[in-house]
Amino acid sequence: MSDEFVCRMCRVPLFTSVDLMEHEPHQHRIALRKKMKEGNINGVVECSSYFLSDTKEWMDENLLAEGKLHCPKQKCNARLGSFEWSGSQCSCGTWVTPSIQITKSRVDIKRPIQVKVVYVPTEAPATTASETS
Ligand SMILES: [Zn+2]
Ligand SMILES: [Zn+2]
Repeated sequence: MSDEFVCRMCRVPLFTSVDLMEHEPHQHRIALRKKMKEGNINGVVECSSYFLSDTKEWMDENLLAEGKLHCPKQKCNARLGSFEWSGSQCSCGTWVTPSIQITKSRVDIKRPIQVKVVYVPTEAPATTASETS
């Protein structure tokens, strides 16, 4: 089962959890220093971005060349993140190379949810006997 990520603005599907590149925040000194500074050595540093392991077909090559990642929907065109061949640093302190970075707050996780079916009668009941009693 993989989660689907959609643009928060227009809900267009962007990528799935399969595309995510995992990185290890704990192995890095900078991350540890940051944690110590914040006083939670055992705490998990929240990453503010998703990193993809590869570019997606909807990504505009010209924009990528400029280091930009925008929503593929023209009417939306929301800024989703940034792209950097030489890599960039996650909020947890880890360097990710190359960096196909999507800001978490720009996307929503669309989990396959079990939709409760609400029965809506298409026609009003012929009689309202139960209400008149
Ligand atoms: Zn969008
Ligand atoms: Zn991180």
